[in-house]
Amino acid sequence: MTASPPSWSSAGAAAPRTVTEHAAAVASLVAATASERVPLSEASGRVLAQDLASVVALPPFDNSAMDGYAVRAAEVAGASEAAPVRLPVGADIPAGRTDVPPLGPGTAHRIMTGAPVPEGADAIVPVERTDAGTETVAIGAPAAVGAHVRLAGEDAAAGQVLLRAGTVLAAPQIGLAAACGSATLAVRRRPHVLVLSTGSELVAPGRPLEPGQIYESNGTMLAVAVREAGATAEQLSFVPDDVETFRAVLAEKAVAGVDLVLTSGGVSAGAYEVVKDALTGNGVEFGKVAMQPGGPQGAGRLRLGGAGVEGGGVEAADVETSGVAVVTLPGNPVSSLVSFEVFVRPALRAAMGHPNPGRPVVTARLDGSLGSPTGRRQFRRGILDARAGTVAEIGTPASHLIGALARADCLIDLPAEVERVGDGDPVDVWLLEG
Ligand code: AMP
Ligand code: MG
Repeated sequence: MTASPPSWSSAGAAAPRTVTEHAAAVASLVAATASERVPLSEASGRVLAQDLASVVALPPFDNSAMDGYAVRAAEVAGASEAAPVRLPVGADIPAGRTDVPPLGPGTAHRIMTGAPVPEGADAIVPVERTDAGTETVAIGAPAAVGAHVRLAGEDAAAGQVLLRAGTVLAAPQIGLAAACGSATLAVRRRPHVLVLSTGSELVAPGRPLEPGQIYESNGTMLAVAVREAGATAEQLSFVPDDVETFRAVLAEKAVAGVDLVLTSGGVSAGAYEVVKDALTGNGVEFGKVAMQPGGPQGAGRLRLGGAGVEGGGVEAADVETSGVAVVTLPGNPVSSLVSFEVFVRPALRAAMGHPNPGRPVVTARLDGSLGSPTGRRQFRRGILDARAGTVAEIGTPASHLIGALARADCLIDLPAEVERVGDGDPVDVWLLEG
């Protein structure tokens, strides 16, 4: 764990944190989750909590790689199409047969793919090289010792560790776990996140709008983003810019079992900054991060028994003594989601043990040129042309343009010190998809 970032209060209100400092502050709030057992069908996207060792060898027994005939290689060495070797068929061995008789000298067993190779046989002749007989079979080609025999343990030995703790589970890994005989896997628990939007101008989608009102979008967007990050989300009903209402919701909902409370809106420098007003002095710090969009931020542990929150009804017994982690995102939708991408998503994924908590970053050549404010790291919305290796901005830097955000597939990461990027210059690009 890195050293604690400077606190805004100690650094002075005017000194912004860097993106890296605030990311570390947020990451330090979300505790690493414990492990839980889940059925394989629920393991996709999860991080393995314990090494997985196979209880069986893979394959568990020598078996046929082809539909054909199990033979002794030496007995068919002289076979050819012109002069086939004829052998009586001793037994039929479909896949799944458990009482396989040994192969007697001078005979063949008919065998299917995946069926156990009988004792005494050392090669399989594919059915295509025979007349497919069931009483006797004419074998029209020789077979080398071991031909088309899949050997027990050639993929893995019994007891061998096949997946290490920390592996992200997808279809191939879950398939392997099933092949090893595991019905469940130990994975890292998903953090649980409460999402709470604020704003007296907000109206739920589907209802009529009065002049001056807008539809609430951050709550739904952030709850989806939390789930896409692999955590669980409860989207609370948004609240107006009223400190008592906001505190009352937290008092009821920010209880043990919640790993993070994520708010949006009410953290900037104006009046009616409900989140800031309600949480300042209660363990949550507010200040500026040197980034754009998403300058105003807040984070901390909601302290119990703080005067303000006590007034709102939070009871000490309701939450762990260390307090519930809170991250307060700005309200503009682009600021909200970009802040989520930069600070919250990596923190949630790190808490779940993801080896790569951040988005994949690639370098692309900028299509066009961009100016950027010096001293602030900027995340512009972009569209990547992966084949051409180029990226172009979509929309403008304005943080209310959710339309452009929705059409973007990447963020163009312009370092704080950069003032201008020229056409064709290399830039870092955060891939938002996949
Ligand atoms: P705030 O951070 O509360 O000052 O809000 C900044 C801007 O974002 C204002 O234009 C708000 O109307 C808008 N906004 C805040 N919260 C939301 C939300 N949940 N959904 C959509 N827009 C919002
Ligand atoms: Mg607001």
